[in-house]
Amino acid sequence: MASSNTLAAETTAHTHSSLQSVVWFDPSKLMIGGQWRDAASGETLSIEDPSTGLTIGAIARGGAADVDTAVTAARGAFDGDWGRMTATERGRILMRMSELVLQRAEALAMIEALDVGKPLHQSLNDSKALARYLEFYAGAADKLMGQTIPYQDGFTVYTLREPHGVCGIIIPWNYPMQIVGRAVGAALAAGNSCVVKPAEDASVSTLAVAAIALEAGLPAGALNVVTGLGAEAGSALSEHAGIDHMSFTGSVGTGRHIQAAAAGNVIPVTLELGGKSPHIVFDDCDLDQAMPTLVGACMQNAGQTCSAASRVLVQRGLYDEVKRRMIDIYRGLVAGPAVDACDLGPLVSAKQKTIVSRYIELGKADLNVAAEGTIREDASADGHFVRATLFSEVPPDHRLAQEEIFGPVQVLMPFEDEAEALRIANGTPYGLVAGVWTRDGGRQMRLARRLNVGQVFLNNYGAGGGIELPFGGVGQSGHGREKGFEALYGFTRVKTVTARHG
Ligand code: NAD
Repeated sequence: MASSNTLAAETTAHTHSSLQSVVWFDPSKLMIGGQWRDAASGETLSIEDPSTGLTIGAIARGGAADVDTAVTAARGAFDGDWGRMTATERGRILMRMSELVLQRAEALAMIEALDVGKPLHQSLNDSKALARYLEFYAGAADKLMGQTIPYQDGFTVYTLREPHGVCGIIIPWNYPMQIVGRAVGAALAAGNSCVVKPAEDASVSTLAVAAIALEAGLPAGALNVVTGLGAEAGSALSEHAGIDHMSFTGSVGTGRHIQAAAAGNVIPVTLELGGKSPHIVFDDCDLDQAMPTLVGACMQNAGQTCSAASRVLVQRGLYDEVKRRMIDIYRGLVAGPAVDACDLGPLVSAKQKTIVSRYIELGKADLNVAAEGTIREDASADGHFVRATLFSEVPPDHRLAQEEIFGPVQVLMPFEDEAEALRIANGTPYGLVAGVWTRDGGRQMRLARRLNVGQVFLNNYGAGGGIELPFGGVGQSGHGREKGFEALYGFTRVKTVTARHG
């Protein structure tokens, strides 16, 4: 991402106008305290369309000074109008935001297709998921309750669930709308105010949510958005002494920095750091039902999904059949421009393409390439396209079976029995999601308990889905839970009140 003070000269009239024609706000501004502002430095970063490699606009290059102003604005809202609102009023505002998101669902989907390279049908799904997150948390806002606790005679004891105050929220580029929906929706429902730092490669839809929030009547300062680089705005936010809670989704390396910064300020932190999720197929399963999911649960968003089912474990009796059917599916997978809603869009950036291509080269050096997809012939050579690639008979300790690739790459591996499946499935540093296909009810229950992950899918697999379902990992996948009602517990703290009345 290049830095410039003006819109880059290489911006083409055509692509620039396509982003301009869908945004109804200026993406080169920050949203702080209900005002659109330039970054304090006056600098901007270019927005690239990953399908073409062309510059299509600019975002503000926010830094420490902007983060500081945003945290002050958030504190002001928390101590002011926003903090004084009832939970029901907060819920009504979130519901209005949800309705406005639905009204603008197609514009939001186009923004995401141009900014992130997400195929249009998938980005439309993300717009609707954003609306649904806001709807879910709107309804939940006034149903978050404390407890009364039996105690000694002459006492009444109860707990209050209180917001933390100012929440810092750092967002990755792979599902900006969904992650903003789940984090900001829950944080606001619980009564917090927020400072959001979206990914530098994918900021425009988060700015759109800020515009919608203002239109919906969210008090100024309750939701602030500071765009910019991770090492500048992101780092300043995570270290800011005015933050009461930090929520981060992204890579393990950055997650470590975030947790260390949170330790410095002694604040709670939620980390969602990705995975290497296993999809386990037993001989007794309904294979026709499993088949489309086995590939789809990884290829969605070109494999750039933290809960992507990137490891497919198949019992010996079905292994050859599954391999044959996966090869057929892979040969039909086409990568192409996001706005044409191909099976796969481009990867988000040249950097991500390099990372994924290196993994594919590494695999080709000593693994069997079972099948590859294609890239549409008319796709731009400057787009960040990668062929879907399936490796088979992959040893469980191979790097491609251990490390998160974050691209359209799956490893297929055989296993003999349940014990071996479990050993392989639990044999990575990650533990986000697992899928199991079997008709054996006892095995379903055993594996649901023994898989070392935060979420198990039995005879289904919902990569990235499940607004109502608590989500998060163990091990290197992180800690804390987002989504569902559970997220509201993370965005609140408990106060115990002990009253002696005789
Ligand atoms: P990243 O962790 O560097 O970036 C995620 C967010 O953190 C972005 O908003 C970024 O600006 C911010 N950030 C970066 N450095 C920071 C710092 N020092 N302090 C505070 N914030 C900082 O991830 P990436 O480089 O964009 O992607 C690299 C890898 O991360 C991918 O290949 C993938 O494996 C993983 N990833 C995982 C998820 C997920 O959903 N778990 C999402 C995106 C990327």
